[in-house]
Order: sequence, then C-alpha cells, then structure tokens
Amino acid sequence: MEETARSLNFIEAIVEKDLQEGKNNGRIQTRFPPEPNGYLHIGHAKAICMDFGIAQKYGGVCNLRFDDTNPTKEDVEYVDSIQEDIKWLGFQWGNVYYASDYFQKLWDLAIKLIEDGKAYVDEQSAEEIAKQKGTPTEPGTESPYRNRPIEENLRLFKQMNTGEIPAGSMVLRAKIDMASPNMHFRDPIMYRIITDYPHHRTGTQWKAYPMYDFAHGQSDYFEGVTHSICTLEFVVHRPLYDWFIDQFADSDYRPRQYEFNRLNITYTVMSKRKMLQLVQEGLVDGWDDPRMPTICGLRRRGYTPEAIRNFIDKIGYTKVDGMIDLSLLEYSAREDLKTRANRVCAIFDPVKLVITNYPEGGSETLQMENNPDAENAGVREVKFSREIWIERGDFLENADKDFYRLTPGGREVRLKGAYIVQCTGCNKDANGNITEVLCTYDPDSKSGTEGGNRKVKSTINWLDMNTAVKAEVRLYDRLFNVEDPSAEEGDFRDLLNPGSLTVLKGCLVEGSLAGAKPLDHFQFLKIGYFCVDKHSTPGHLIFNRTVSLKDNWAKK
Ligand code: ATP
Ligand code: MG
Repeated sequence: MEETARSLNFIEAIVEKDLQEGKNNGRIQTRFPPEPNGYLHIGHAKAICMDFGIAQKYGGVCNLRFDDTNPTKEDVEYVDSIQEDIKWLGFQWGNVYYASDYFQKLWDLAIKLIEDGKAYVDEQSAEEIAKQKGTPTEPGTESPYRNRPIEENLRLFKQMNTGEIPAGSMVLRAKIDMASPNMHFRDPIMYRIITDYPHHRTGTQWKAYPMYDFAHGQSDYFEGVTHSICTLEFVVHRPLYDWFIDQFADSDYRPRQYEFNRLNITYTVMSKRKMLQLVQEGLVDGWDDPRMPTICGLRRRGYTPEAIRNFIDKIGYTKVDGMIDLSLLEYSAREDLKTRANRVCAIFDPVKLVITNYPEGGSETLQMENNPDAENAGVREVKFSREIWIERGDFLENADKDFYRLTPGGREVRLKGAYIVQCTGCNKDANGNITEVLCTYDPDSKSGTEGGNRKVKSTINWLDMNTAVKAEVRLYDRLFNVEDPSAEEGDFRDLLNPGSLTVLKGCLVEGSLAGAKPLDHFQFLKIGYFCVDKHSTPGHLIFNRTVSLKDNWAKK
C-alpha cells in the first residue's frame, strides 16, 4: 500500500523536541493502560496507535499495563481479549504490568502520606463528601474528620483493609486544599473499600483499593514511563497526577502526561458500560457482534488491522473533541479491501435461467479474473452451462424501455465474464410464480475473445447450477438510529436500529467459495465486501457484509 508522508502529530512534535533537548537521556517509554472491564473498541485503537506508535517510531518501548484497581467490574476474560486484540492490530508490548502489582507499594506510599499529615480517613458518606465539594467558583467545606490525629488515621486505614470496616463507610483522602480552584485538589479520594468482589489477581488479599488518580501516576513513575498519553478528560487531573508524584519522587525524573481527543463515531456508542449492557441483555450477539464498534466486532465484520490503522491515521490527533462520521470508517474498509478481496459472484434471490440454444447437457470452463485492482491476483476457473442462476430482480416480465436487464424481447445483456444473452420469455408454476427465465445466447460473444469486446448496456451476475453452493448472508447496518445516541435523553437502548441486521438464508455463491474460511474476504460483484463469519462451516456457509460497494447512506 502507498505510504503517504504526513506531518507530525502534536505529540510526536513534543517527543521530538524532548529528544532534541536530551530529556530522560533520550529514553522514550509509553504505556497503554486499559482497565480490564470490557473488550477494546475502536476508540482504544486510537490510543493504541498513539502509545505503541510513538514507541515504535522513536525507538522506545510501550508496555501494556492493566489498570486493575476496581475488582467489581474486572475479569480475566477481558485481560485475555485485550492482549489478543492489541496483537491482532499489529502491535507488541515490551512488558505486561498490572496496577495490582503495585498494591503493596501504593499502600506504603499512602501510609507515608498519612504519617506526613497529608492524608486522612473520612467517615462521611459519598453523598456528604460530594455535597462539600463546592463549585469551581465557591470553595468546598472541610470534612469534620480532616484534622483527626495521625495515629487514628493509621489505625483506621489499616482497618479499612482488614474487612472490619464495611464498604462505603470510610475512604482515605489526600489533605490538599478544599478551596483550590482545581476541583480535583479538594481532598481527592485515594482509597475506597471493596469487600464483596475478589480481585482477579490478588483475590481477597486487599479490601482497600487505590483510586485512579492515586494509582495511575505512581504506576507510571514506578515503571519509568516518560510520556503518559491519555485522552482530554484527564487534562483537569494532570496537576493532581503531578502532585502525587512530587510527594514521593526521589529523583528529577518525572513522567509527563499529554492528552489528545477521544474518538467518537456517529451511530454507535463507545462506552464499555453501554456495550456490556447490550451484550448482557442479548441485544447484540456478544462483544464481537459485527455491529459492535469493538475490535473483535470489527474483525468479525471483515475489517483488517490495516483498515483500522489507516482510519486512525486519517482522523489524526488533536486537542478538541468531536465526532467522526461512520462513513469515514467504512471508506477505510472499502479502500483496504479493494486490493485484498477477490471478486466472486453471489446471488441473493436466485431464479433459474435456461439458455435454450446452448447444447443440452453441455458445459464449459471459463477463466475469471480474481481481482482487476490487484496485481498478480490471477484467474480462477468457473463452470458455465445451459442452466444457470441469476438474480430474480434482473428479470422483469413487463418492463419499460428504461429497464436494461432481462425482459422478453428486450435488450441484450452480458452475463459477467461469459456471453451475451437475450431474453425470450419465462415459465411459471400453477400459482403464476416465475420458475425459469428463458433466453438465447450469442456463441461469438464470449468474454476474453474478440466477440467479448462487443458492448451492451448492462452486465448481470450468474452462477452455474451444478457448482453453486448455498450460503447464509448477513447484512449489517448502523447499530443506532441517531447520530449520537449518548447525547439523547432517555434510554439509549430505545435508539437501537431495528433494521441493523437482515439475514438472508437462501443465497447462492460460487463453488470456489465452498472451502472459504472464517475471516476470508470477498467482493461479491456489484454488491459489496463480505467476510466469512466465525460460525461458518463448509456445510453452512455464512457471510457477513463488511460494507456495501458504495456509501448508500450518503444518497438517502
Ligand atoms: P470506557 O469509557 O469505554 O470504559 P475508558 O476510557 O474507561 O473507556 P480505559 O480502559 O480506561 O477505557 O482506556 C484505556 C486507554 O484508552 C486510556 O488511555 C483511554 O484514554 C483510551 N481511550 C478510551 N476510550 C477512548 C476513545 N474513545 N478514544 C481514544 N482513546 C480512548
Ligand atoms: Mg477508564
């Protein structure tokens, strides 16, 4: 694929400047820090391309760190799927780390902060604490527990971790400044109690769990991260990120946080919580339902890692949040599959076509070009015979002059890659249903011969009756009916598009597809790009539509 030179994104520019200035002795270290509470989605792919991309481009290392500080929602299933998806996207981490590896170290730092008089145990409820937060223009109110003796804080903090104290009844807070203009400095919560959910790695060893703000920066510091890249909602957390690290750092080294815009795409949701709801309530066929914006869903849909990476490259990185049109993602799929997917014939609603002047019982082998858009894609052999399948919609018994396909006494039509035929009539059953369409062919019009150059107005798909195989085809459309389901009032599930999946059971495809394997890509001529579903077997072929050939929505 053609590499187009692009200018540096703003984070690359920062990294280059840091390198020029010799910061961190030229060392570049990033991390990708997913919480293992769901499957990765295309938004994560944007972060992955950044985090791993920076390391790759500047000879650094990117580690995978599971941000596993909340056992209520986390699971090894997610840990495994995240690793699989990153590798599939084409990236390799240096090390795998877990925030839970640092629970002891973080605990020790929290104890030190208490001893320094910079943290205290608050016994108020979450509601009370929230009420005292104040507003950006009004200072907050200090907790009545703020000035309790250090010894008491130490004793209670330890009890928070033994199970003696019920979840929700105490938290550890940093004692910073309840009047700070930055709300995150108003005595942020450092630890909370979680008792009823064993951690997927540490089991029931811990009952007090560190909050994101306390765990994330320290973890970056422990690992030696130089550029801690995240999304814009963390801009307001950055001063606190720096503050916590400053409390403990024993050298000049500091990880630095940089933020870029989150990816949002129209007609879908990008929140793990909402996706989990769709999965748990059976509203989609699992995390890898081809309508889901998850990496595994896109994979099952027929997207390749290259298509996803090219899409991410196209949208770029900025410092303003926005919404990307789904059609841009689909465009990336078309662009990528164009050279990758062989052209084959599929008929969704078949009707028989009999070529009455073709020898009875005769057949021949035609050479079909696999992919005119790819070099060296070669040819394949396809059988042609007297009786073939065509698309029912390509025949009209009574058509006006504007109909260029088959109609009795109508215009000549080319059977793709084969001969020119002309319709002479049709046969029907007792109920008046058309059972076969009749035509004659021009034996001198074979594609690939001189007569093959004869031009007619239209070309239609066909399949040899003896070799075509049955297939189920699944047509996917937008998952939601509205551009931004998250911005609407009410329940987002009410906004699901009821027509997002159409299953066609009686389709036929070329015999050459009989052995097609999950994830194989094809272009069904004139229809779109399709991919073999993971549940497809030689006895029951299933194809998922990745994307139509053209953007049908743009027309609507
Ligand atoms: P969700 O809200 O869906 O649960 P999250 O931000 O909580 O997502 P994490 O697992 O914490 O998910 O994310 C890991 C990394 O991926 C973070 O650095 C986060 O900033 C980034 N990320 C998550 N969602 C997006 C997105 N839509 N666009 C770009 N980066 C994202
Ligand atoms: Mg998160």
